[in-house]
Amino acid sequence: MGKKQSDPVAVGLIACLLFLLAFSPVSVAANADNDLEPVRVQLKWAHQFQFAGYYAAVHQGYYRDAGLDVSLHEYRTGISPVDQLLGGRVDFAVADSGVLIYRATGVPVVALATVYQHSPSILVTLEASGIRELEDLRGQRAMLGGGYMNAELMSMLNRVGITGDDVEILPSDPDLQALIEGRTDAYNAYITNEPYRLRQLGIPYTVFEPRNFGVDFYGDTLVTTEAVINRNPEMVGRFREATLKGWRFAVNHPDEVIDLIQTHYNTQNKSRDHHEYEAREIIRLILPGVVPVGYMNEERWRNIEQVFLQQGLMADEIDMQRFLYQPDRQITAGDILAMYRVQIGAAVLAVLGLLMFAHILSLRVQVRKHTLALEQARQRAESEARTDALTGLPNRRYFYEELSRDFAQAQRHDIPLAVIALDIDHFKEVNDRYGHAAGDGALCSAARVLSNYMRTGDIVARVGGEEFAVACLNISEQDARALAERLCKEMRDCEISHAGDKFRITVSLGYAMRAQGDSMEQLMHKADQALYAAKQAGRNCIMGGRP
Ligand code: GH3
Ligand code: MG
Ligand code: MG
Repeated sequence: MGKKQSDPVAVGLIACLLFLLAFSPVSVAANADNDLEPVRVQLKWAHQFQFAGYYAAVHQGYYRDAGLDVSLHEYRTGISPVDQLLGGRVDFAVADSGVLIYRATGVPVVALATVYQHSPSILVTLEASGIRELEDLRGQRAMLGGGYMNAELMSMLNRVGITGDDVEILPSDPDLQALIEGRTDAYNAYITNEPYRLRQLGIPYTVFEPRNFGVDFYGDTLVTTEAVINRNPEMVGRFREATLKGWRFAVNHPDEVIDLIQTHYNTQNKSRDHHEYEAREIIRLILPGVVPVGYMNEERWRNIEQVFLQQGLMADEIDMQRFLYQPDRQITAGDILAMYRVQIGAAVLAVLGLLMFAHILSLRVQVRKHTLALEQARQRAESEARTDALTGLPNRRYFYEELSRDFAQAQRHDIPLAVIALDIDHFKEVNDRYGHAAGDGALCSAARVLSNYMRTGDIVARVGGEEFAVACLNISEQDARALAERLCKEMRDCEISHAGDKFRITVSLGYAMRAQGDSMEQLMHKADQALYAAKQAGRNCIMGGRP
């Protein structure tokens, strides 16, 4: 067995298979349940009407219709939703305007849609504390929320000249008891939540809304990262659309969503009445009749950015074009590459495979062509090396090669072998009288005569200038002599025409039969001796035979 080669046909088939697999219906299957794309969303608080749109999108099947299997993660860990997003633990997060500060530090976070046109963030104080005006907070304790979450309330304080040095900022406590029990003087709260609870408890309170101090921030904004968008821009579009559809449902059917929350999401054990209060306040912040749900305005973001810049919370303006999601932007080549990377990869492999296949085939054809040409050239060279160019007869070299084979056979099986040496008589005179070209013509005529009278298997060659030799295996001496005589006669009778001249030539022949113990050289020598004797005898005759 030869060495196993990689078969180009197999390579081609594998490439085609890959290609077909890449574009097979399996890879673009419809949204069967187990085909839904998993999507994780980080909420920015515990379950409540604040996230009504997401619940609606889940339970109305909007996400499912969009091919998505969405899981909603409550805020529990103390890690901010944006940090969860940046850590790659979720694909989307609900953030507030503080997300701009992240962006300003170079974090590639992108705002997809602003749901709350105004922020629900407020500072609450108890009437009992004696704090009537915001300025009264100077020298007091305030829970402002951690990290960027306090940016908005801090901005509000700054508006009345209170800086971080003027208040004792405490870490925020999710339990309103911190305010009620006097562990803080001001408590960061949501207009949608804590005022309801204080009213229920019958505790008089005061609300400070940043909007009333010229700090009008956006509220909950859906965000993701550039990485998620680049990886799957089309999924991001579907998720955003389904979410906004959920929100439109929620603002139009708050009671149904409250039912949902009470059944599936009431981790805070709120009363229906509480949910209804929350829903009313939240729908006010969404401004559903004023702007389309999810609407974002670059100018508003710029105003928020200005506040952060003034507060020293940001060093530079950000690139708004990159921060604000462009749902209708032209799909770029990069998007297409990201979207169809698997198919494109397989197609590239397939094309490479086919190219390889074609290349190997063409190499094979070329190699075969070259091999054939080489073989032909070799055969031609070999045949030229054994052929006399003038007469086309085999040459001296060929004669001796063939004769040695016949000689060996004759020796082994004791088969008779005759050699006839033939030389044109007075050929020099032919040349002298008729010219060299005529001499050449005479040589060709002699060659033709010889060829005509040869039997199959006999060897005939031009072994010198005007000398020829014939070898006949398995021939009697009598027949050899008869052949020599025949040749002598035919040569004599052959009229040669050249350039208007007509002339004849004669030949002398010596023949010899192989004798027991002869070497090939001895046999040839005997034929030559016989030829010499024919010349001596007057030419145009035959001499030879057994000694
Ligand atoms: P002899 O009867 O004794 O053989 O006389 P000769 O003239 O044939 O013998 P010689 O050996 O004296 O001369 C041979 C001549 O054959 C000399 C040479 O010019 C001529 N000859 C040899 N090869 C060729 C050839 O290829 N073409 C031509 N036209 N002549 C050739
Ligand atoms: Mg001669
Ligand atoms: Mg001669």
